[in-house]
Formats: sequence, C-alpha cells, structure tokens
Amino acid sequence: MPEAKAFSAASASSPLASDKINRREVTDTDVQIEILFCGVCHSDLHTARNEWVDMMPTVYPVVPGHEIVGKVTAVGAKVSKYQAGDLVGVGCLVDSDHTCPSCQADMEQFCPEGVFTYNSPDKHLGGVTYGGYSESIVVDESFVLKVPANLDLAGVAPLLCAGITTYSPLRHWGITKGKKVGVVGLGGLGHMGVKFARAFGAHVVVFTRSDSKVEDALRLGAHEVVNSRNADQMAAHMGTFDFILDTVSADHDINAYIQLLGLDGNLTLVGAPEKPLPVSSFALLFGRKSLSGSLIGGIAETQEMLDFCGEHNITSDVEVIPIQKINEAYERMLKSDVKYRFSIDMASLKNA
Ligand code: NAP
Ligand code: ZN
Repeated sequence: MPEAKAFSAASASSPLASDKINRREVTDTDVQIEILFCGVCHSDLHTARNEWVDMMPTVYPVVPGHEIVGKVTAVGAKVSKYQAGDLVGVGCLVDSDHTCPSCQADMEQFCPEGVFTYNSPDKHLGGVTYGGYSESIVVDESFVLKVPANLDLAGVAPLLCAGITTYSPLRHWGITKGKKVGVVGLGGLGHMGVKFARAFGAHVVVFTRSDSKVEDALRLGAHEVVNSRNADQMAAHMGTFDFILDTVSADHDINAYIQLLGLDGNLTLVGAPEKPLPVSSFALLFGRKSLSGSLIGGIAETQEMLDFCGEHNITSDVEVIPIQKINEAYERMLKSDVKYRFSIDMASLKNA
C-alpha cells in the first residue's frame, strides 16, 4: 500500500500535525495525483473541530482538504481522459453511484451514495477518505477535473470548492445583466461569489462587517459595499435585491437579509454554521420570497466553471502558506483575517 505524508487532526481539540496515511494502489479507472496546492476551506475547520457533529460527525484522525490541484503521476489501464504530467483538480467529491436520478442529472453532489473527499466511508481501504492536506491522492477519473493551462495554480485550488459553490447557485438562479445581487460575507466563498456575479453582468453589493474590506470588495468587482452593522446602510437597500448569496460561516441574522429581497427574491445559503438559524416567516411571506440552500456543484458544472475561469482569467486571491502554518491559518480564518483564501504549497510537506 503506498504511504503518503499528510497533516491530520487526532481529535476535535488537537492541532493538525504531521502524519502518514495509506493511499490505494491505482485501479484500472484511477488517476494518481501529486498534490501541488490545496486551498483551506472553512469546512475543513468545521470538520477538524467536529462542529457538524449532528449532520456529519468527524471520524479521527481526519485529513481535511478538498481544493486540490496537482500533477498526474500514474493512470490505470482504462483511463482515457488523463495521462502522466497533466495538471488536474479534485474538489469535494471523489465517488458516487453513477445511476441515481441526481447522478443522471449531473448532480453527483446529491447522490445518496456520494463520497466526499474526506471524512466519508472509504470503500477501497475501509475507514474514511483522506483529503488534500497530503502529498498525493488516488481518485477515479470521473471525479478528476482538467485545469486550464493559463491560470496560476495556487489560485486555482480554491476554485474546486469556493469557486463551484458560488458559481452553481448564481447560474441556477439565472444571474445575468440587470439583476441586483448581494453577497454576504467577504471570505473565501464570498470573494469568489463577487467575481462570478460581476462576470455574469449583475449589479453586485457586498455585505461585510469589516470596513477594512471595503476597498478590496470594490477591487474584486463589487459596485457597492454595505457595512452590515450599520442599520442606515442596510435600510437603504430594503426590498431591492433579486438574489442574495449568504456565505457566512457562523451564527447571524438571516432575516435582516430576507427583508432586503424584492418581490419573488431569493436568498440562498451556502454557509453552513454549526447551529440552526431562526427564520421569520413574515419576512418571507411579504413579497413571496424564498430561502434556499446549495451544495457545491456536479462534476460537469465544476468543469464548466473551471473552463469559464480559464476564459475570463479568474482565480482566487490567495495567501500561499506552508503546511506548517495550518493551525495559525485556522485561527486567522476565524478572525476573518484572510485575503481571501489560504492555499497550501504542498512542497512544504517534504520538510514535515
Ligand atoms: P471564510 O473564508 O471564513 O468566510 C466566511 C465569512 O463570513 C467571513 O469572511 C466573514 O465575512 C463572515 N462571517 C464570519 N463570522 C461571522 C459572523 N459571526 N457574523 C457575520 N458574518 C460572519 O469561510 P468560507 O470558506 O468562505 O466558508 C463559508 C461557509 O460556507 C462555511 O460555513 C463553510 O463550511 C461553508 N461552505 C459551504 C459549501 C457548500 O457547498 N454549501 C461549500 C464550502 C463551504 P466579513 O468579514 O466580510 O463579515
Ligand atoms: Zn469547501
């Protein structure tokens, strides 16, 4: 069994530390990848600390990481799409049943047998799957993505989760020129939401708690920025939005944003806070507003998003870190002190 260096957490309260894991032998349909960069998603932190214990309890040790880019090092006999040397990506999904209605509709993220990149049952090796904070990974070719050659790889990694998670609901809700779109929270997901909403032609308004992010929000593509702690600034947008994408990772008042929607407006939650969020039915009733969720995106749509990024030169704004800084990065992410995604340079794992 090939061994791989990795960083794992041994319990909800342990810092991540150097570890060794097993990766499977390459089967006929597998692609073996040397990981070059892995983005740091807030979901990695929620999982490492078992904050989703009711929905998806964490099995330890956990190796997070689902924003993976790397180079193909070997392929199985039946692999047709990839060969050694190709630059590829892997996101949050590594398997599904390929037959259920969701898979048939290219929405593998909703497959009841879907396998996430980490903390999902591993049918090859037993135990759970291990993610991208590692030097290598082996993935079925149908869950491997092609990476456009013109983009910076450190900034591509976050597209595999933060990118598709914001691209997919904006597409689903028909965001185009003439729509007024709000993005709540300017973090990893939020800053990608701004870039895509702008690229799709919408009028984009960012909601942030931090005045220090105003300039960046405008640079990233927002037309307007609202400090969500300022009641007057919030009131000025009452009843005017077609669509609001809520990327907030912690407890907050979503009713304040539902009120900003216009007739038939929609608020989609992509943020996944630890605890349920109270919803005022009155806020929804007046104006026939709707509240939705969205989960990453299917493989075909993820490839479409990567190709779109290649054509429009879109990547994530990243701060590249060595893996040894991962615990510090988690603390900084909790303080919203990241512009706007940490991307781990996996070469640093060689010194671990
Ligand atoms: P992140 O980089 O930490 O960004 C979250 C942003 O939320 C922060 O930058 C901050 O923005 C805002 N925020 C944080 N705490 C807040 C609070 N108490 N009140 C109001 N705003 C607050 O996290 P991320 O990686 O973008 O992930 C965001 C959430 O999406 C996480 O819960 C993650 O698990 C989830 N997620 C979901 C999916 C999916 O498929 N649905 C995929 C990936 C991630 P400001 O500083 O601008 O206020
Ligand atoms: Zn993620």
